[in-house]
Amino acid sequence: MDEILYGVLAEGVGRYLDGVDRLAAAAPEAAGAELRRLSAAWRALLGLHRPAGTRHRCSGCAGRAAICTVWRVASAYFLRRIRA
Ligand SMILES: [Zn+2]
Repeated sequence: MDEILYGVLAEGVGRYLDGVDRLAAAAPEAAGAELRRLSAAWRALLGLHRPAGTRHRCSGCAGRAAICTVWRVASAYFLRRIRA
């Protein structure tokens, strides 16, 4: 179950970050650079918190649930569109 949920979240968050990268390409130079920096930082952070191993636990949170707080925040802001 967690594997399926992770796949759905990863696909949705990836699509959102791809959209940010497209916006970056169309933005003025300084804004585009900052958008690319934010997108890259989120991709790196999410990569460190990818579920791994036979039990599919977060690889960054030492044995906690597959969908950790990092993924929960990303899904809340990027998929459910909580406003900052
Ligand atoms: Zn984690």
